[in-house]
Amino acid sequence: MHAIIDLPDWAIEENKKLPAAIASIEDRMKRVIEFSRMNIEHETGGPFAAGLFEKATGKPIIIGVNRVIPLNNSSAHAEIVTLMMGQKILNTFDLGGEGMPDYQLVINAQPCAMCYGSIPWSGVRSVVIGASGHQVESLTGFDEGPVHPNWQSEYQRRGIEVIENVLAEEACKVLKAFADSGAEIYNGRQKS
Ligand SMILES: [Zn+2]
Repeated sequence: MHAIIDLPDWAIEENKKLPAAIASIEDRMKRVIEFSRMNIEHETGGPFAAGLFEKATGKPIIIGVNRVIPLNNSSAHAEIVTLMMGQKILNTFDLGGEGMPDYQLVINAQPCAMCYGSIPWSGVRSVVIGASGHQVESLTGFDEGPVHPNWQSEYQRRGIEVIENVLAEEACKVLKAFADSGAEIYNGRQKS
């Protein structure tokens, strides 16, 4: 018995086309937002993407996308997909381990409660966020879940830098396009 997490073919090809390094945080976010847009265009998952980068150099390790519906896997949020693949590529369960460079997770939208919880376990040292949780909920109807009210300071206390509101407007455009398309909001149950 296996449960498989994979990327759609287009995302594998787009990852191959990434430059060796992406210097600015805005340019890293731009790429991630582009993946979120392509994921809805290709109908290969929800409007979410996350990129794992070496923080200092901007070397991209992998940009992953939400795969919940295609894989029948409620945990296959972009952050989880990307962290699982990044750890596989780098051959470690702890991205913050001894001798590792600092890793940064760039996400088109604020992590939900599940992804929020998974990030400290991953070892990433920096999180960059586009759209806020409030924007995700108001634009799409997706529920962020019971995220800790002081989530930023909980991260900072654990040595994880938080950078918010990076190209939020561009990130929101994709979320809005997704909502306007009438696509399935698969975890909207709590609102019923
Ligand atoms: Zn999530």
